[in-house]
Amino acid sequence: MPVKIVIPTPMQRYAGNQEEIETTGATVDEALGQLGEQFPDLRKHLFSPEGKLRNYVNVYVNDDDSRYLDGGATVIKDGDTLTIVPSIAGGLDSVGHGGAPSFKLTTDPETMEFTNDEILRYSRHLIMPEVTLEGQKRLKAAKVLCVGTGGLGAPLTMYLAAAGVGTIGLVDFDTVDVTNLQRQIVHRESTVGKPKIDSAEQTLKEINPNVKIIKHEVMLTSANALEIIKDYDIVADGTDNFQTRYLVNDACVLLGKPNAYGSIFRFEGLASVFYAVDGPCYRCLYPEPPPPGLVPSCAEGGVLGVLPGIIGVIQAIETVKLILSEGQPLIGRLLTFNALKMQFRELKVRKDPNCPVCSANPTITELIDYDEFCGVGRGNEVGEDVEHSEEITAVELKAKIDRGDKFTLVDVREPHEYAIAKIPTAKLIPLGTLAERVHELDTADEIVLQCKSGARSARALNQLKGLGFKKLKNLTGGITAWSNDVDPTVPRY
Ligand SMILES: [Zn+2]
Repeated sequence: MPVKIVIPTPMQRYAGNQEEIETTGATVDEALGQLGEQFPDLRKHLFSPEGKLRNYVNVYVNDDDSRYLDGGATVIKDGDTLTIVPSIAGGLDSVGHGGAPSFKLTTDPETMEFTNDEILRYSRHLIMPEVTLEGQKRLKAAKVLCVGTGGLGAPLTMYLAAAGVGTIGLVDFDTVDVTNLQRQIVHRESTVGKPKIDSAEQTLKEINPNVKIIKHEVMLTSANALEIIKDYDIVADGTDNFQTRYLVNDACVLLGKPNAYGSIFRFEGLASVFYAVDGPCYRCLYPEPPPPGLVPSCAEGGVLGVLPGIIGVIQAIETVKLILSEGQPLIGRLLTFNALKMQFRELKVRKDPNCPVCSANPTITELIDYDEFCGVGRGNEVGEDVEHSEEITAVELKAKIDRGDKFTLVDVREPHEYAIAKIPTAKLIPLGTLAERVHELDTADEIVLQCKSGARSARALNQLKGLGFKKLKNLTGGITAWSNDVDPTVPRY
């Protein structure tokens, strides 16, 4: 049976950079098996060494999760589309039966009052039958916590403020960097270098001075998450790392709060509402995170500047719908968006009867150590260590070059990055091609590996070590450190 398999962006590099692959098979397993034979590197990412589909990978047959069909044995027919959806680096009574949810806010909306200025400001809402003064009171009474004021948090918080959500909590501990401005539209040229929550507060207050902003300038952790989240009605997760995503999910499940979720990568996005009170949670969709380093972060993989605008606004709409108790929330549905194709798809998400956190017999009943769970240290998305003796600083590398030492400098970034900035004399061997081009290197030579930040080159170092290379060094901080400490004419990106 010819079937189409849709390959997600992070895995396309293991599939000859193709988005869709035609293959054959009578079942899901057969089709995936064929795919794995065509692309052995991809097989390693899809299946464990024992041949089991890895559990951070979901396979949909048309729009249905194969886990709830017959799993790998699900029979497929001519023209079916299999979609591989890996995790990509939230009491309603309506779900599945169409009616409007009734969502109880912690503050009684009837106690809300408006000035004449506010009445005028919200007039386009007030004349809508789905909002009216009653709905606007609900918006004013609502308290929404936005985790992260980055790409997703920017449009999300700006629209929530404009719509008149009374209290917006912001969690962020980062400062505004010039590389944020390409997409994080809540921040401005004038606030570069300032704390993001102060920068965001300034913009939100300019949009709507009636909104109360509560700033949490902390990293959300197992120690503080329940305390911070408990006073809010809804959480909107705009984070970009798996530790915080699972932490937010578990905290929301434990506290019975809905989570308007969004995530983005390059030109693709995902959105859903996870609300364990009446639907699945994030763990029902992805019980475990991918191993560190497999899914690149936006800093590593890039993100189209406009994309978080689309996904963040979907999070904002879902948040407003929950507050108003109008329409059908994105609970139990995963919306996928591909900007290049300008295509939305909707996939079903079911509540997992064995979910470790939201099922009837959960194994997780309090917050856990999410760094350990995700296999990473905080702030270290690399997950790959090199020995201290294998590190070389940019200044030491410069001295080495000046002395005329004999060694090979290998740049493991992508060609388009090499075109932006490079260290003269570096030989370009992108990490993904290292295995097939290893014959170009000599185990007898000293080799210094370099990338943008030191993360990918650390992976390359360990890969070469496994192949018997002994004289290896990793440039700490990558070409960014070279630009900072040795040659400022090399652009940073
Ligand atoms: Zn669950």
